[in-house]
Amino acid sequence: MLNISEIFCSIQGESTYSGLPCIFIRLAGCNLRCDYCDTTYSYESDISLSINDIITKVKEYDPVRLVEITGGEPLLQLEVYQLFDSLHKDGYTILLETNGSISLKDVPDYVIKIVDVKCPGSGEEESFLIKNLEYINEEKDEIKFVLSDNFDYNWAKDFMIKYKLNDYEILLSPVSEKLESQGLAKWIIEDKLPIRMQLQLHKIIWDKDKRGV
Ligand code: SF4
Repeated sequence: MLNISEIFCSIQGESTYSGLPCIFIRLAGCNLRCDYCDTTYSYESDISLSINDIITKVKEYDPVRLVEITGGEPLLQLEVYQLFDSLHKDGYTILLETNGSISLKDVPDYVIKIVDVKCPGSGEEESFLIKNLEYINEEKDEIKFVLSDNFDYNWAKDFMIKYKLNDYEILLSPVSEKLESQGLAKWIIEDKLPIRMQLQLHKIIWDKDKRGV
């Protein structure tokens, strides 16, 4: 059984898959407490579902074939590996949104990992497992920095240089209440960084505090 916060279908708001219809499976529980967390409701949940129940729910959204497993932190629940397997056998494209603090060693190669590196503004700066860089595939996985201010921006730049992330798909996104998107855009243009700036599309389309979108 997996502890679930919510399952819903919406428009993918982040990553290079942004804009596509996507089914979100949000698992409950997180080992971090980021200052800007917008899914605090996912920390606890009374909903427990079997893999079969989850797959049945996912199939209600046919013919959507893109699924994101998110949280919370989805890798805290070991049964998530069975969920990867079932979704893969059913032919879904699987995105995994993970906070970077749990080992990615056993995540199957068919799962596309979107891995957060927590910046100082999150309050969880020390959480990233550096060894995880060995398990991030530059051909298909993505690395994300969520920025609260210019200090975070420079910290992310230094991190990219230090760990030679030039060949990876890098996503930089502003915390909407803390950093103006125009400011971030100007810094990126000035520095001519080979990265992708992203805004949380779902928060632009829908009410920013609305759940299940
Ligand atoms: S890792 Fe994600 S879910 Fe967990 S506290 Fe940080 S923002 Fe919230």
